[in-house]
Amino acid sequence: MAPLPDLGAALNDRALSDLCWLIEQPDPRLAPDAVWCGERADVFQHLRDVDVLTLANDLADGVLCRECGVEVIRPVACEERVADEFPYRGCCPECGWIPLHAEHARWWHIQPPKVARWLNGAIKLASNYRVEPVVDGVLWRLGEREYGRRRHVIFFGRRLAEAAGTINDALNNLSAPGAEIIITTTDVQRLRTTPLYNRHVVPLRAIAHLKKVGFVVENLEAFLPVLAIPQTTDETSLRVMHSRRVALISGEECSLSPRVYAFLKILEDADGDEVHKRHIAEAMNFDGPFRKADIFKRHKVVFDTFIEADNGGHYWLRPEFVNLERR
Ligand SMILES: [Zn+2]
Repeated sequence: MAPLPDLGAALNDRALSDLCWLIEQPDPRLAPDAVWCGERADVFQHLRDVDVLTLANDLADGVLCRECGVEVIRPVACEERVADEFPYRGCCPECGWIPLHAEHARWWHIQPPKVARWLNGAIKLASNYRVEPVVDGVLWRLGEREYGRRRHVIFFGRRLAEAAGTINDALNNLSAPGAEIIITTTDVQRLRTTPLYNRHVVPLRAIAHLKKVGFVVENLEAFLPVLAIPQTTDETSLRVMHSRRVALISGEECSLSPRVYAFLKILEDADGDEVHKRHIAEAMNFDGPFRKADIFKRHKVVFDTFIEADNGGHYWLRPEFVNLERR
């Protein structure tokens, strides 16, 4: 076979964009007519050339008769093959029986697990980790990698918005808070109103290039909040509390101990309402005496900045730090 011509970056981009679009469909299949004679046939041919768009086993419901180009014929398996290259045929009311190649008779599809395996290879995780399905047909675990001196678990996911709750639960079980990286074909904007709003999500299109051998991944680090320090210098907020386990106070990063993080999260979940210390102790599985001073011993400035309390054992987040948008 002749080597593939250099089809250029533009076609690669369109192909990657169509690949992302197709994977986001509930059923990522294409009818043969779309692949061979639709207006994006050149893009789909590229996806076939790089072997991500492959022939499925099921027969298409109908294909355009290539003799008359008008009638739609239904592919059926030949009982007696005319020739090996025509295992199917269809009967056109105008033209009679038309022999069909498998490629013209069966569906084409993209298999998301294959994309997950490619990514696992492209990020160079394959020697240590096998791709593991996490949420059926939606989320795969690719492996682990250290970034910014912290171990991260890397996933590939599709249709994240549709299964956000299930995926969020799975992530809670499989990675420490803020240590997940989800590479996805889903439009990240769609996740803002879902339980995945504060997860580390990286668009596949931003980091991957399509090559003949699969993906080449570049630049993943640039999308990781662990390494991307916020540029505003005087910010005071809990904006990156979940993703990075730090509070920003006048632009300084104050790292949060697991207990302080848990405390803040309980107050955040209360949306600014008062929470009694009994409830906090319970939610944090506190055994011994609950002393706020102990919990915030080395985080006094965090307490003073973000939290208010009364004498009756109630605590709440200062109103300016309550983020109501995330719901
Ligand atoms: Zn015909």
